[in-house]
Amino acid sequence: MARVTRFAPSPTGPLHLGHAYAALVAAERGDRFLLRIEDIDTARSKPEWEAAILDDLAWLGLRWETPVMRQSDRLPAYRAALDRLTGLGLTYACTCTRGDIRAALSAPQEGATVMGPDGPVYPGTCRSKGHASGAVRLDMAAAMRRLGTVTFTDSGTSPGPHSFDGPTLCREVGDIVLARKDIGTSYHLAVVVDDAAQGITEVTRGEDLFEATAIHVVLQRLLDLPTPAYHHHRLIRDEAGKRLAKRDDARALANYRAEGLSPQDIRQMIGL
Ligand code: GLU
Ligand code: ZN
Repeated sequence: MARVTRFAPSPTGPLHLGHAYAALVAAERGDRFLLRIEDIDTARSKPEWEAAILDDLAWLGLRWETPVMRQSDRLPAYRAALDRLTGLGLTYACTCTRGDIRAALSAPQEGATVMGPDGPVYPGTCRSKGHASGAVRLDMAAAMRRLGTVTFTDSGTSPGPHSFDGPTLCREVGDIVLARKDIGTSYHLAVVVDDAAQGITEVTRGEDLFEATAIHVVLQRLLDLPTPAYHHHRLIRDEAGKRLAKRDDARALANYRAEGLSPQDIRQMIGL
């Protein structure tokens, strides 16, 4: 079977060395290599960044299939997936602000706050409130009663099969947001719907997203979508050992290009 991989940048800043590594790993591991522009965060995404990203990727020597998928074109598909989860009785509307969540978590009867993939694990305040609108959350306990356990395999930095049961996911992940009120979806829902639509057989991405993968497998199972293989790779770090972030503009590929470095130099810098 042809291996289909993808690189899924958000056009919210320049590509830096960490993105170059992620893109090169994905391209190398795929017989077919696809691109997806993750631009659902319309406030932060800019067409200029998208153009710059494509230009940097081509300069690195990468070629990808067209047309490129753009998440801002896919809102109806996310809506349909969300409606399906709601039809299964697995969602509820949440009207909490970040401040409400902080306050609920600091109440005396709450134990220590657990940090999940999206920040502090939501305490479930709105689960039984029956709000008519708001952000839409997944009722993780109900979802896992349906599924039992979920499993994925990683061929990257944590090799092997990884299984998660309901109590673990309720404690460590909780009722994640499926759809923000403003954009009607979330990273988790969009990525699951799109990886299936693009026929991705192996998701390659940084090990910082390892915890999010458990969420994605839950959503795949609930939506009857295939679970791809996963390859979580190491992160590129700066001299101090800190992972590179979008704000590390000094390590933007564009700067190295301007200094006259070659794609081969870049590969060497990131250990390829
Ligand atoms: N858009 C995500 C990022 O820029 C990619 C996440 C993924 O590969 O699933 O980090
Ligand atoms: Zn709430």
